[in-house]
Amino acid sequence: MRIAMVSEHASPLAAIGGVDAGGQNVHVAALATALAARGHTITVYTRRDDAELPRRVPMGRGVEVVHIDAGPPHRVPKDELLPWMDDFGDDLAVAWEADPPHVVHAHFWMSGLAALRAVDALGAARPPVVQSFHALGHVKRRHQGADDTSPAERRELEPFVGRNVDRVIATCSDEAFELHQIGVQTSRISFTPCGVDTDLFCPDGPSASHGDRFRVMALGRLVPRKGVESVIDAMAVLRERGIDDVELEIVGGSLPEGEMDADPDVRRLQEHVARRGVGESVRFRGQVPHDDLPALLRAADVVACTPWYEPFGIVPLEAMSTGTPVIASAVGGLLDTVVHEVTGLRVTSRDAEALADAILALRAEPGWARTMGRNGRARVERLYTWSRVAADTERIYRQAYAERPIPLHSLHTGTAVAR
Ligand code: UDP
Repeated sequence: MRIAMVSEHASPLAAIGGVDAGGQNVHVAALATALAARGHTITVYTRRDDAELPRRVPMGRGVEVVHIDAGPPHRVPKDELLPWMDDFGDDLAVAWEADPPHVVHAHFWMSGLAALRAVDALGAARPPVVQSFHALGHVKRRHQGADDTSPAERRELEPFVGRNVDRVIATCSDEAFELHQIGVQTSRISFTPCGVDTDLFCPDGPSASHGDRFRVMALGRLVPRKGVESVIDAMAVLRERGIDDVELEIVGGSLPEGEMDADPDVRRLQEHVARRGVGESVRFRGQVPHDDLPALLRAADVVACTPWYEPFGIVPLEAMSTGTPVIASAVGGLLDTVVHEVTGLRVTSRDAEALADAILALRAEPGWARTMGRNGRARVERLYTWSRVAADTERIYRQAYAERPIPLHSLHTGTAVAR
């Protein structure tokens, strides 16, 4: 199949870890690569956020990235991109006019808007649109309230996308429920999770240095909703309990270690560390290239993923894939991926006492922790490899293609419609 992926703000070529560059970038890159390995041709359309970027960039066999001119050619926060989605859609329509793709896969609600605008301009040649939301506005609003920077139009437009695309992919049971809440018919929801690169994130390989202390690691974007403050609070709880052989390593942010003092999220967390008086046991590593993460994960005794909410969460899978147990808040996708007392421990989000208890439970029983790490690896090998996710996604594309509406005028004139 010729597959067009639309990912307006999240380029598969971007450095990962900053404010708007996380799981979606990883997902688009890995899924495109895994689909190409199955013989498909993938073009990823993303916004040009740097004037120097060429229009077309090959990304490996069978995958090409095309930069679309929509808005200023520099980084713009994703929540400010809506005004340029019509331009994005119009450019897509021009790109697809001569040779439409078999299927369009839109990532994030704004890509869905641009994709719908483009396919509607194609008339009889309209390919089906499959939508992955990655995050849902009403869930974000529920947790972030006034701090949610999404444009007000998202309230109307996101459900509009959900109702008008041909299929919606839910990555976990919680997301399927939330999609239903915004009016997406259950019969149009398909299910496939995100995946993890099990070759890169494997238990064997070099490991970062490790001293005598029990190491907790928090990895990912450092925006408030990721709940890293709770892990810092848990360190303070441990200190209050007289425990001083636990350390916390915080990995992520928009800048590498040498420059990270200029990162507002790092500064926010550093201030929190200072307020809680745990500076001696917390280390910040800044943004780390994706390929360097496995060595850090192997050196961690546990990875703490404690978001307030989480549409899916690839980091827990990366930890499990390297054989590291996970402490996860019991929210969103983590309810599906992390199995309590089997691959890790689940805690209530924003509960530092419970988190401290979970850290101590793993520290007290290294054998149990190792078993959970092995179980995590077995679970990702069974359910979350990108090759499996790509095979599921291909099935969804084929279903959407088979079910695509046949324009009425082609029935009237008897025009053959390729199936
Ligand atoms: N990541 C990275 N380097 C960093 C911080 C994060 O490569 O310094 C990657 C991380 O390994 C994961 C992704 O960013 O693949 C975060 O994805 P997740 O789904 O956990 O969260 P999101 O950012 O989408 O909310």
